[in-house]
Amino acid sequence: METLQRTRVMSGVRPTGRLHIGHLVGALTQWVELQATSEVYFEIADVHAFTTGFENPQAIRDNRDEMVLDWLAAGVDPSRATLFLQSSTPEIFELHTLLSMIVPLSWLQRVPTFKDQIDALGPEIATYGFLGYPLLQLCDIAVFHGSKVPVGRDQLSHLELAREIVRRFNHLYGPTLVEPEAILSDFPAVPGTDGRKMSKSYHNTIDIADDEQATRTKIRSAVTDPKKIRRHDPGEPEICPVFALHHLCNAERVPSIRENCRSGALGCVDCKSELADTMNAWLRPLRERRASFDRATIDAIIADGTERARVIASATIRDVKRAMKMI
Ligand code: SF4
Repeated sequence: METLQRTRVMSGVRPTGRLHIGHLVGALTQWVELQATSEVYFEIADVHAFTTGFENPQAIRDNRDEMVLDWLAAGVDPSRATLFLQSSTPEIFELHTLLSMIVPLSWLQRVPTFKDQIDALGPEIATYGFLGYPLLQLCDIAVFHGSKVPVGRDQLSHLELAREIVRRFNHLYGPTLVEPEAILSDFPAVPGTDGRKMSKSYHNTIDIADDEQATRTKIRSAVTDPKKIRRHDPGEPEICPVFALHHLCNAERVPSIRENCRSGALGCVDCKSELADTMNAWLRPLRERRASFDRATIDAIIADGTERARVIASATIRDVKRAMKMI
C-alpha cells in the first residue's frame, strides 16, 4: 500500500484553554522544527476535550480558535502543516469502532493514567469514552499512518498500548497499520510564577496571548528566593522561578544575573523588571502575528486542513476495511 510507506508526524492538543510559554518552548517549538523537515498533521482534539469537559461544550468551542491562534503565533505554518479538526474527521471514529472490536478491555483498564485521572478528577469522568481515550488517540495517529509521534515521558504508556493494538490488528488481518514510534520531547519543565510547574490549573501561567501589562503584572507577583528579603541580601537563583524564566528570553544575561543575585548586588524588583522587558520583547513578534489573523481566516485554515486530512484518512479506512474483508 502506497500510504504505508510514507513517514508522517502526527500530534494534537485538546482545546482546553489558551496556551502558555511552557507549551511554546515545549510542543510548539518542536512542531515548528518538525514542519520544516517532515510531513506533519496537527489535530485540534476537540472530541478528546469532551472526556473531561463534556458539561461545557461552549468552552471547548471558544478555546478551539484561541488555540489555533496560539499555534499560528508560534510559527505553525498551514502551508507546511495540515491543521485539522478531530470532530470533522469521521474516519477517526470509524476506525475507533472497528479497532474497539479487537482491543481487550483489560488493555485499556491497565493504562496507569486511567485510574490516576479518576482519582484526581472524580468518578464522574469514568465514562465509556474516557476508558477508550487511548484507543481514540491511536486512531488519530493510525488513520494517517503516522509513524512518528512527539510525546513526553508521561505519554509513553499510551504509545506502547497503541503499538500493541496495531500489532494485534496486523497479526489478525495482515500488515495494514503503521506502528507509531515516539519522538521523545525531553525539554525541561517551565516553572510557573508560583514556582510549581507552569499549568493552567495552577493559575501560574504567562500566556502567549497575554498583553504586555498582564505579563508585567504576573512577573511582578512571582515568588522568588524566600530568604532574599531585602535588596542587598544574597540570593539563591537556582531555587527562583524568575531566574529560570530568564533562561528562556534573556539567556546572555543569565551568568551576570546569577552572580549579582548571589552577591546581593541585584534586587528582586530590578530582576523582575528586566525579565518583564525581555519576556515582552521575546513574545512581541508572536503576539503581533497572533493579532494579524481574523476568525474567517482561522475557519478557512481549519476547513482546508481537515479536507486534506480526510483524503489520507479515507484511504486508510479503505485499507482497513479491505483487510477486514468488509470490502
Ligand atoms: S534577584 Fe532575581 S534571581 Fe535572585 S532571587 Fe531575586 S528575582 Fe530571583
